[in-house]
Amino acid sequence: PYAFNALEPHIDARTMEIHHGKHHQAYVTNLNAAIAGTDAEKMSIEEICKHISKYPMPVRNNGGGHYNHSLFWTIMKQNGGGSPTGDVANAINAAFGSFDEFKTKFNTAGATRFGSGWAWLIVGADKKLAVTSTPNQDNPLMDIADVKGTPIMGCDVWEHAYYLHYQNRRPDYMSAWWNLVNWDEVNRRFAAAMK
Ligand code: MN
Repeated sequence: PYAFNALEPHIDARTMEIHHGKHHQAYVTNLNAAIAGTDAEKMSIEEICKHISKYPMPVRNNGGGHYNHSLFWTIMKQNGGGSPTGDVANAINAAFGSFDEFKTKFNTAGATRFGSGWAWLIVGADKKLAVTSTPNQDNPLMDIADVKGTPIMGCDVWEHAYYLHYQNRRPDYMSAWWNLVNWDEVNRRFAAAMK
């Protein structure tokens, strides 16, 4: 929902163009091919994720890729960042002690995810916030996830998300990424998950 260069200087336009136009597009194309002629064609991507163990790996990888990136674009914006606002700010303080402690936990989840994957802030079944991470294009909605919940914020730590500008420096990318967080959208997703 913004131009490729909207997130500069934190994420460069070329990275966004390839990430959205090539990587995300490939997940969509491959998911559509993988579910063609099956009941999954009529299901929401959330419902597919919740029952992912019933599906072959191409649905898991590409369905996860589509869900994850669809969330990722919306929880960033130009001139985002700053401290959390609204109800999610209170929930973050209650769950983690402070915004700084939450950031440290989230950054560690991303930095220690070996290879490719995601760091997440989720609302668990207990309606409490938790930080987790998943490998590849898995996500916490999936019935195969170690820690399950509804993602309200996620950071893509695949190299394709940052390599052109940051090369191997994933922590630098994550540190810059906080300047983009769209707290209004995180609040909207938090409210929906708490219902
Ligand atoms: Mn990605």
